[in-house]
Amino acid sequence: MIDSSQEKERPVVLIVDDDEMMRMLERNSLEQAGFTVEEAADGETGLIAFQNTHPDIILLDVMMSGKDGFTVCQEIRGMHRGGTVPVLIVTGLDDLESINRAYEVGATDFILKPINWTVLGHHVRYMLRASQAFSELKDSEAKNRALLNAIPDLMFRLDKNGIFLESKGSKQIPLLLPAQDFLGKRLDEVMPFDIAQKTKHFISAAIESGTVQLFEYQLTMDNTVHFYEARIIQSREDEVLAIIRDISDRKSAEKKVIQLAYYDNLTGLPNRVLLRDRLEQAELRARRNNKKVAIMFLDLDRFKNINDTLGHNIGDLLLQSVADRIKKSLRKTDCVMREKKERMKTTVARIGGDEFTILLTDISSIHHVIMIANRLLNSLKRPFILGTHEVYITASIGIAIYPTDSEDADTLMKYADIAMYHAKDLGRNNVQFYTESMNTAAIERFNMENQLRKALSNNEFILHYQPQVNVQKGIITGAEALIRWEHPETGLVYPDAFIPLAEETSLILPIGEWVLHAACSQMRTWITRGLPFERIGINISNIQFRQNNFLEMISHTLEKTGLNPHNLELELTESCMMEQVEKSASVLRELRDMGVYITIDDFGTGYSSLSYLKRLPLNCLKIDRSFTKDIAHDPDSKSIVKAIIAMAHNMDLKVIAEGIETEQQCLLLQEYGCDVMQGYYFSKALPGEEIISLALESRDVHSGYFSLKG
Ligand code: C2E
Ligand code: MG
Ligand code: MG
Repeated sequence: MIDSSQEKERPVVLIVDDDEMMRMLERNSLEQAGFTVEEAADGETGLIAFQNTHPDIILLDVMMSGKDGFTVCQEIRGMHRGGTVPVLIVTGLDDLESINRAYEVGATDFILKPINWTVLGHHVRYMLRASQAFSELKDSEAKNRALLNAIPDLMFRLDKNGIFLESKGSKQIPLLLPAQDFLGKRLDEVMPFDIAQKTKHFISAAIESGTVQLFEYQLTMDNTVHFYEARIIQSREDEVLAIIRDISDRKSAEKKVIQLAYYDNLTGLPNRVLLRDRLEQAELRARRNNKKVAIMFLDLDRFKNINDTLGHNIGDLLLQSVADRIKKSLRKTDCVMREKKERMKTTVARIGGDEFTILLTDISSIHHVIMIANRLLNSLKRPFILGTHEVYITASIGIAIYPTDSEDADTLMKYADIAMYHAKDLGRNNVQFYTESMNTAAIERFNMENQLRKALSNNEFILHYQPQVNVQKGIITGAEALIRWEHPETGLVYPDAFIPLAEETSLILPIGEWVLHAACSQMRTWITRGLPFERIGINISNIQFRQNNFLEMISHTLEKTGLNPHNLELELTESCMMEQVEKSASVLRELRDMGVYITIDDFGTGYSSLSYLKRLPLNCLKIDRSFTKDIAHDPDSKSIVKAIIAMAHNMDLKVIAEGIETEQQCLLLQEYGCDVMQGYYFSKALPGEEIISLALESRDVHSGYFSLKG
């Protein structure tokens, strides 16, 4: 073997000849041709010289005394480094036999005597180069073979008709047959017909174009699907090399990635990304076929309650069951549609918390959409059995239609969302189609939200106070603080117009804190001014009440304003008490211990039972205006109010009636024993300063001021 260290400027040639004259002539000729020459005068010294000088090529005389050239050649071949060095036998015997013999003992070539001295140098150099090239080739072949064996791919050489000519198997790749059994066979004899056809097509394409052809196919073996990737490259004029790789692992990883990127983990439904993609495709198809597409947003009503009260595990179970119901309901619809030869397609996606989206494509009639939406609502009506719980839930659905409402996918989704919110506003458990007016409303709402965010820092909120009158005593004993928004453009805005939005956006938290502080300060001022007020009533939103730091916020405000807790009355709603019952009860107990007065506002509009309320540390019930409104004319209202007052007193609770507008109402309630009244009949809500004069006026006249009024 010739390694790079031997590739010197002047290659070394070893001359072994017992004829001194010959050695001299050869040396002369070879030195002129650029060789370094070493000499040996017989076979024995020739062998030693070979070991010492590491020649690149040997010129070996045949006829020598002692060991002849054949023997020396044979021995060199058996020595270290002797296997590959080129040996030229120099012989005068031009008979075939000795030439044959020379090859048998491993000679590379021979040079016949008489020697042509002018070409000897060329001849030797040529032999040297040829043998170098040969050994490099052998080297690279060995490397290639090692490389091929190291590659986990299968390789086949095939002719242009798809007949296997050569194969290299792979341990990693399962095959229907061992690779060598392919040889001599046609593609369709060793693989399924369709794959054979496909491969043949790509063989022709590779030969025609001279470029690499890449394709994938799959085979089922032992009940497992294997995926392969094939590369076909032209290797000769009418032959190709096929390199086959098993890509099953990659495929399953790809599948996982797709699952993660496009599907919801909990329900296995498509997610928002996939839905949007499908919506765009559906729009394209609808445009071509002159059809419509409907997008439905379905949101579960009060899902948060379930999560809060039964825990997230039950919440998750519910979402999974809802997903199933939706799918089943759509499947039924699909069957009905098929009977009617309608080809509507559906996709259900989960795009967030409790929000599902249903895409209906190729619709010819909006009637079908309504039918499906109602069917969906109906399907949710049956109770869900989740572990030991029986859960009832309703949903609100908003629908937008392509191309009627918009041709843009994002806009359509936004519109369906707006319509869904509208369905919620209309009392939930119903279906709403998007209309343009909804968008105007949504824009207004958006503007209002932005303005509401700035209102607090711009000092745009004020409080008005509505007096509460103890009719027996005929004096004002307190007032309820009611917030107003002095909007820079539209003027005074009443709470019904912005409190719901403030609650949705949690802005109610800083706003509520401001109210509490402002009202407590006002009450302090009134007391300092000598007004005999017992309490200031403040409305508390459910969201505020549920904050972990609620109690802290109350005591901190009392401390800061210096108001005695006994002068503070919190108005809470029934629904507020009913959510998270245990927690509510413990917060109420702490408030009672502090000395704060608790009133249930709007009593009668919720669904709480008196027996349940009995267990809570409450002080007062405030009968909702809807009962007092008709008390003078409607016998039902009359008996309800009478009963509420009697029961409340039984439970040691005080009663306030709100919304008193007439003397008649006032007299009736007085007759039933109502403790405190509030309403326009006495006074509307007024700025804090005006309350002072009103209260002083009532005190100055005489004790019967309010009861005698009118
Ligand atoms: P509410 O707590 O039931 O307050 C009584 C509402 O009835 C007040 O409306 C009051 O002005 C109105 N009202 C009083 N007397 C009469 C009457 O004789 N006839 C009629 N028709 N109405 C009467 P307002 O001020 O518009 O407040 C509406 C609701 O907004 C309140 O209902 C309360 O739930 C909420 N609210 C007001 N201020 C606040 C606040 O500071 N924080 C929170 N969270 N909610 C507030
Ligand atoms: Mg109130
Ligand atoms: Mg009320």
